[in-house]
Amino acid sequence: MSPDTRRFMKPFCYRGGVLHAENVDLRDIASEVGTPVYCYSTVGFEEQYLAFSRLFAAVPSLVCYAMKANSNQAVLATLARLGAGMDVVSEGELRRARAVGVPPEKIVFSGVGKTQDELAYALDQDILCFNVESEPELEQISALASAGGRSARISIRVNPDIDANTHAKISTGTYANKFGIPLEEAPRVYEKAAKLPGLTVTGVDMHIGSQIPDLAPFDAAAKRLASLACHLMKEGHRLEHLDLGGGLGVVYDPHGNLRPPEPTAYAETILRHTRELGLKLVFEPGRLIAAGAGVLLTRVIHVKQGAGKTFVIVDAAMNDLIRPTLYEAHHEIVNVREAPSDAARETVDVVGPVCESGDYLAQKREMTLPRPGDLLAVMSAGAYGAVQASTYNSRLLVPEVLVKGSKYAVVRPRLSYDDLIGLDRLPGWLL
Ligand SMILES: *Cc1c(COP(=O)(O)O)cnc(C)c1O
Repeated sequence: MSPDTRRFMKPFCYRGGVLHAENVDLRDIASEVGTPVYCYSTVGFEEQYLAFSRLFAAVPSLVCYAMKANSNQAVLATLARLGAGMDVVSEGELRRARAVGVPPEKIVFSGVGKTQDELAYALDQDILCFNVESEPELEQISALASAGGRSARISIRVNPDIDANTHAKISTGTYANKFGIPLEEAPRVYEKAAKLPGLTVTGVDMHIGSQIPDLAPFDAAAKRLASLACHLMKEGHRLEHLDLGGGLGVVYDPHGNLRPPEPTAYAETILRHTRELGLKLVFEPGRLIAAGAGVLLTRVIHVKQGAGKTFVIVDAAMNDLIRPTLYEAHHEIVNVREAPSDAARETVDVVGPVCESGDYLAQKREMTLPRPGDLLAVMSAGAYGAVQASTYNSRLLVPEVLVKGSKYAVVRPRLSYDDLIGLDRLPGWLL
C-alpha cells in the first residue's frame, strides 16, 4: 500500500501480513458474505467527519454530509450520531436521512430539477433550506409553499463562473454547467425572492465541483460568494448562513500529480473570506468524509495472458464500481495478503466479467501478479462506489458491510437471483 493511501486510510492496515479493517480480517468478511463486497470502517467515517467539523469549530457552522457519496443508512446513522446534517439531492435521499433520525433542521436540499412531489415532501418535513438553482424553481417553491400556508427557507445556489480544474464530469461551477444562477444575476434574483410569497431568504449557496485539485478555485469562489453576501446584507436581506458546498478532493493515485488541498489550508482560506460576515457556515463535504472509509473486496477469477498483455480478471466489475471507466479514476489495488516487498511486479489490466471493453478497475497497472483465488482490495472506494452500482448484465447488486472494532454487520445484503429476476413483470399478452 502506498504511503498516501496508508495515511488516508488508517483503519485499513496489514496485520500479520493480512489486510484488516479495524480489527477484522478482510478474509473473514469475504468468506462469510462472498465477493464482490464493499467493506467500510466506522472509524474511517467518524475520524474524517470529526476532523472536518473541528476545522470550523471556532465559528458557528454546520457540516451537511453530501450523502450521495455513500447513502447507506448505517453510514448516515454513524455520522448523524456525531451531529452531522445532510445535503440531499432527491426525495429518496431525504427519506433515508429522515429514516435514520437526522433532524429536518440539519437538512439542506440541492439539485437542479426538484420535482413538485419532492418539493412538497421537503416542505412537509420543514427542512433547514432549499438550495434554489433557477428562477422557475424559485417560483415553483413560492407557489407550493404559499398554497400550503407555509414558508420555505431558501438560499440561491450561485454559479461563480470559476473553473475548478477538475474532471469535466464533476465540474459544476462554470457557466458551461447546468448548476446555479450566474453571479451577476444573483442580486436581482434575491430581490425577486424577497418579494415572492411563501419564501424566507436565509442563505447564499455554492458548490463548484468535486475532487478539486487545488486551493485557488475555492479561494476565488469564497471571495466572490462572501462579497455577494455582504452586498445582499447591505440591501437589507437578513441572511443567516453561507453554504460553501463540498468538493475537497482526496489522493487516489500516489504517483499522480493531483494533490488536493489540505483541509487545514482550505479552512484558513474559507475563514479568511467569511469570518467578518458573522454568518453561520454550512459545508457539504461528501468524498472527503467517505472515500477513505471503504474498500471494494474482489476475488481473482483468472489471470489471462493476452497478446503482449496480462489481464487479471476479477469478480467485481464496472457495475459495482464505475469510477475508473466513468471518470478515468485511479484506485489503488492491493492484495489482501501482503506481497513480499521484493516480489516481482508486472503491468496488468484489472478487468471484470461484464461484456464491455470499458469494464476495468485499472489499466496498465504495475502490481505483484496475483493468483486465481486471491482476494484483492480496491482502495478509497467508500465514496461514489456502492451508490452508483447497478445490476447490469443481471449481476447481483453488490452488498455492503460495516466494521466497528472487532465486529462487523452486513448493512446491505446481496439480493438473491429470485429477488433480481422477480422484479420483472410479464404483461398479460405474453402470459
Ligand atoms: C456532490 C455534491 C457535493 C459533494 O461533493 P464532494 O466532492 O463529494 O465533496 C456537495 N454539494 C452538492 C450540491 C453536490 O452536488
